[in-house]
Amino acid sequence: MRNGRRVSSFNEYLEALPPEEAHMVAQYRKIAGVYNLLWHEITVRTYNSEWREDGVGSCGIDKATSEDLLEGSCGSNIISLRERRNYETPGRSMACPYHRPDRGCILEELKSPRCLDHVDYRHDAEIKERFGIEVPEMRTALRIIQLGGRNPKEGDFELKPHLNDDFVEETYRQTMEIINHVRNFPVLHPEELLI
Ligand code: SF4
Repeated sequence: MRNGRRVSSFNEYLEALPPEEAHMVAQYRKIAGVYNLLWHEITVRTYNSEWREDGVGSCGIDKATSEDLLEGSCGSNIISLRERRNYETPGRSMACPYHRPDRGCILEELKSPRCLDHVDYRHDAEIKERFGIEVPEMRTALRIIQLGGRNPKEGDFELKPHLNDDFVEETYRQTMEIINHVRNFPVLHPEELLI
């Protein structure tokens, strides 16, 4: 209950979405989820991810900033799901409301494009040197998904997320290729594998 009003749970909210909105949210979660997995695989194999040093690092921002680049109806739905996950996840936040001490971000496949695309300078340098890769730019794919096949500049506001199905599959496949490359390197923080 909040302010005497019952708020739907995470799962209830998802199940109540109209089909086209649910399709877009599923696409967003699939790609944000595989980007988040890439970050996880990189993080357990590198030394310079900032949050490990003081429990907050780059996540010392407010809720609105953490929602940057979540757009349109898809972005609104993702924000609602984030709020429900936060409400349903134990532990007190510090800095950003979605951050938990010793765990980092609880959002995983619900992170915003801004958070997924952020890399600290020293971490970026270590990633290039250790794995011989550039971290892929992540905002563009998530923006395309959030547009849901619409072209507002041309006056086209009809949702057609199925038009992005092939794009989503290809983006997922390419990201898994990078993940499999990173997985060839030794784990440096085995205690964080299950976080
Ligand atoms: S949403 Fe997650 S990744 Fe983004 S600032 Fe908050 S804790 Fe950090």
